[in-house]
Amino acid sequence: MSRIFSGIQPSGELHIGNYLGAVKNWVKLQHEYDSIFCVVDYHAITVQYEPSQLRQRRREMIVSLLAAGIDPNVATVFVQSQVPEHTELAWIFNTITPLGELERQTQFKEKAQRQESVAAGLLNYPVLQAADILLYRADKVPVGEDQVQHLELSRVVARKWNSLFNDGEVFFAEPQPLLTPTRRVMGLDGKTKMSKSTGNTIGLLETPESIWEKLRPAVTDPKRIKRTDPGTPEVCNIYHLHKAFSAPETVDHVAVQCRTAGWGCIDCKRVLFDSMERELAPIRHRAEELSARPSDVDDAVASGAHRCSSLARETMDVVRERMGLAGAEPDGRIAGQSGSQSVNRV
Ligand code: ATP
Ligand code: MG
Repeated sequence: MSRIFSGIQPSGELHIGNYLGAVKNWVKLQHEYDSIFCVVDYHAITVQYEPSQLRQRRREMIVSLLAAGIDPNVATVFVQSQVPEHTELAWIFNTITPLGELERQTQFKEKAQRQESVAAGLLNYPVLQAADILLYRADKVPVGEDQVQHLELSRVVARKWNSLFNDGEVFFAEPQPLLTPTRRVMGLDGKTKMSKSTGNTIGLLETPESIWEKLRPAVTDPKRIKRTDPGTPEVCNIYHLHKAFSAPETVDHVAVQCRTAGWGCIDCKRVLFDSMERELAPIRHRAEELSARPSDVDDAVASGAHRCSSLARETMDVVRERMGLAGAEPDGRIAGQSGSQSVNRV
């Protein structure tokens, strides 16, 4: 069975952009692939953060993923920092990643602009991402459109490592993205993509009252100034959200009502709100149930980390061996110099 890997940062609450662009797809794909989903806290520390908040957000993210429908009996779910091999492989990949490729990454340029002081970790973020995926030798990565450029870099890294250290076989597959029809959800400001770090989100677990408070003033087609002005649904973020949450016949009706000014934008938003509630209310309900059973959540993540640790060690044994590095045997000897029987001897 082919393997997929994907991650999400505990940098804030899981929002409907994450859900529509990635997590909803994970829920479907978990039945078709050997699936590994990771809460990537090593990534979340590439910008300023509070340790206590990180702990809390990590837990909330796991609850949100399980509530959204990730089944830990079907898929493997864990936290990145439980498996330190991610950072080991990232260091190794740092040594073969062209600097110029990192400097031209759009996410780096955008996030660096928002930081007072830019850490090297932010630049090297996509190298860690390549390590996350290749550590499990996954060949498909279900993500939103914003990650496509990072995946291109993962392929560059895989190719480069294979060409330098391969023993006549391709060890790392070149990972390909798996995108959804809602691969880029715009923020409520209608200007930039919805992002945890920019605060233009609707949380997956937000209360109905709070969702309505955000939907009501959300930006629509700017040409609909008066109630009687006809609009163009394709330029309106609310219409795109209808396409994600409403039934196809409702979406068609919305388009007609917008073009003919049959509805005002508020009418259109009320219908969207009802569609969203139909999908989000059961998720909220499951999250409440899960929060009441913290040990079940802990058990799911512990068993995920256990499986991933053993997969990660298998990969790292080969990587160390091919690269001429010492093995990870804790016997204090340098393999190859003292007659060590280590499988990792050089
Ligand atoms: P941050 O602002 O901290 O980067 P984020 O909201 O971008 O947070 P990530 O954890 O970086 O979320 O990404 C998790 C997954 O969600 C990735 O697969 C990413 O492509 C996807 N994703 C993020 N934002 C969107 C969006 N607006 N539309 C579609 N998919 C998205
Ligand atoms: Mg992001």
